[in-house]
Amino acid sequence: MNFEIIIIGAGISGASFANKIVKFAKTLLLDAQDISQRPKSTNIFPFHNKSYIEESEWANEELFPIYHLKTNYMGSTINGIINSEEFGRPLGKVVYLEKLLDRLIQKFEEKGGIFKDKQKVIKINKYNDHLEIITNSGQTYSCKLLVFATGSRALDLQRSMGFDTPDEYVGIYCHFHGDEDKLNENLDVNYLFHINIKISRNGPLFINKGKERLSIGFLGDNQPIQELGLKLDNIINNYKKIQPFIEGLTRDSKAIVAKISKHPIKSFSRERMLVLGEAAGLVTPFFYEGILCGLVSAEIASYTTKSLIENNCDFNQLSLRQYDNEITRVFRNFFKNGKGSEYIFYNAGSNMQLIWDSYTKSIFKDKKLRRYIYEAYQIEDIEALTNYDTSRDRYAGERMLANLPFLSKISLAPFFLKARFIL
Ligand SMILES: Cc1cc2nc3c(=O)[nH]c(=O)nc-3n(C[C@H](O)[C@H](O)[C@H](O)COP(=O)(O)OP(=O)(O)OC[C@H]3O[C@@H](n4cnc5c(N)ncnc54)[C@H](O)[C@@H]3O)c2cc1C
Repeated sequence: MNFEIIIIGAGISGASFANKIVKFAKTLLLDAQDISQRPKSTNIFPFHNKSYIEESEWANEELFPIYHLKTNYMGSTINGIINSEEFGRPLGKVVYLEKLLDRLIQKFEEKGGIFKDKQKVIKINKYNDHLEIITNSGQTYSCKLLVFATGSRALDLQRSMGFDTPDEYVGIYCHFHGDEDKLNENLDVNYLFHINIKISRNGPLFINKGKERLSIGFLGDNQPIQELGLKLDNIINNYKKIQPFIEGLTRDSKAIVAKISKHPIKSFSRERMLVLGEAAGLVTPFFYEGILCGLVSAEIASYTTKSLIENNCDFNQLSLRQYDNEITRVFRNFFKNGKGSEYIFYNAGSNMQLIWDSYTKSIFKDKKLRRYIYEAYQIEDIEALTNYDTSRDRYAGERMLANLPFLSKISLAPFFLKARFIL
């Protein structure tokens, strides 16, 4: 079957792009998974994600069951709380991502798009005027533009088409269930982000609290999957700091292990091909925020390809450069923030804990810093993201350095100075 556009991957990047472009091009969306078996995913959806979805979705309580009112950047002794009541509006909502994806796919089909799951793309053949896509069930499709929105699960495939691949990491999480009152009694924040060097040197332990469910997990060092599972069990069963939050709740028997990629690849387009979201390494390297990057890359892909379609352009490499240029322009400052924070925390070696605790103390003590963090949740749209103000991150760095114990302040000053150059 012939299509103008084929998108591989119906995660947030692919499903969102499919919805935006289907009005302008005959579009096929493929996914390797059985979509009815997609695992639960409870995620934080800050206001800075909101402008990339439709108002009707945002208002849908099945997809977005509650507002995100409070975050705890939890330290060893002092918690850095961002409480929306201090500043006004909530921080965003909590999304049940698997339900949002179902809704986006349903809407895409209503608009005339064709969706097929259980179709793993295993081979791509390139011809002068089209691409041929072959799936594991022997189906063949052709298109003028192919979009990789494959997350971290088809890096070999994108490599085979000449793209670089981002760096791979791995995370694990599981869900707990209980009634809403019990969840709120246990934990009064929607998002808990905690650095503990014994858990991971590469990422946080997190808890995301929805209405009658919460997920708990961590983004780990690259240990084997079995070890990850044992570590999660160990944390859940023995880590005193988090036990009150899950007390009396029922745990899902199965934990979900998922790869995550970060550090953007050099080029996001080639002749007749684009890469979106996590497959392109568009995930913030400190917070591992991939939903925003998926949504924004889908938005940029939609306005750049729409104008090419309107001008009867054949998706040559030069014309698709617009997508690369826009991705770089929009994310430049925002990713500096991620890189600076990644350097400060995940490259600090044995000082990681000390620096994290200084951060949570700075948040606790400093209203200006709390406001800056609150405002980062509120970034309105693409232009605001493009103009992201990195001087605020330098301010955070200064506060962290100032709040370190005296001797560490002296020894770590050059380290903080280096991070300043990243920003
Ligand atoms: C443990 C963990 C916690 C996270 N928490 C957060 C969070 O709280 N907030 C946040 O913003 N981000 C979070 N992230 C990151 C975020 O979830 C992802 O970066 C984002 O969802 C990626 O979206 P995507 O559409 O680019 O890729 P994916 O969601 O990975 O979608 C890719 C799709 O492509 C399909 N696919 C792959 N290969 C093929 C193929 N060959 N043929 C057909 N289909 C294929 C897959 O089946 C999949 O459905 C987390 C990640 C992990 C691992």
